[in-house]
Amino acid sequence: MLSYRHAFHAGNHADVLKHLALVQMLDYLTQKPAPLYVIDTHAGAGRYRLDAREAQKLGEYREGIERIWGKNGEDAPKPVAAYLAAVRDMNPSGELKQYPGSPWLAKRALRASDRLRLFELHSNEFRLLAQNFKGAGRETQTTAGDGLALLKSLLPPPSRRALVLIDPSFETKNDYANVLATLKDALKRFASGTYALWYPQLAKIESRQLPERLKRLPAADTDWLHVTLRVHAPATDGMGMSGSGMFIINPPWTLADALRESLPWLTQKLAQDDTAKWKVETSADK
Ligand code: SAM
Repeated sequence: MLSYRHAFHAGNHADVLKHLALVQMLDYLTQKPAPLYVIDTHAGAGRYRLDAREAQKLGEYREGIERIWGKNGEDAPKPVAAYLAAVRDMNPSGELKQYPGSPWLAKRALRASDRLRLFELHSNEFRLLAQNFKGAGRETQTTAGDGLALLKSLLPPPSRRALVLIDPSFETKNDYANVLATLKDALKRFASGTYALWYPQLAKIESRQLPERLKRLPAADTDWLHVTLRVHAPATDGMGMSGSGMFIINPPWTLADALRESLPWLTQKLAQDDTAKWKVETSADK
């Protein structure tokens, strides 16, 4: 039984990191004329109202997007400014009222020849996703179902160019093993795809071991990038998310520099205590 709903968390520090990287990747991958497939295995509802009861209940966006919005973002490094421009497209008045999910950010970046495939397992979330993308055109397809299991049916894509975003809610222990098994299988089917996995920094062992296990997945000559942003020290009871990370296989070559340019500024803005820190490591550093 799934209970996670992204509407309670939209625009938090984890979304900021994930969507900053996503906007950068989309920008790079849509520069080549060949069609791009974007596959979002865990799409959520696609977009969120920040004045809704859900977002207001925890107010997580106040420690995320709101900290870099408007005047607070005026001196943002270029890659962050590109991400903020995407969020501003959803808030043309300048007032922060809505927050884009990954499907909306992908849709915004894609060209008519590209394809967007969105999967969502939770029936209520899927209903909202389908509503939000009604009339989006034939190039966008929403599917109710398990994005991890269904990914294999799309690989390799006809154009041999794809960005796969894997953004689970990590509600169960199995999510960690499932993600590793799915990536392993996906790399066998389509080794040159760009795979971007988001994960939470939690005290639990599965979360702490995940990055090292991910580094062992791709072949030795495959590029990867690992970025983390911690916003506060882990709670003493071991509960809660102190930060998050993304592990990207076959990242655009521009991504490491873009993140290294952005994260010192972003960490300063999003820090909730003086243990906040960031890291970007790549296969090239080894
Ligand atoms: N990617 C979205 C974004 O950036 O806006 C947020 C996604 S949210 C973190 C995770 C979503 O995955 C939830 O809506 C949850 O219902 C859904 N979900 C969980 N397990 C799933 C699965 N196996 N397949 C597809 N969706 C799943």
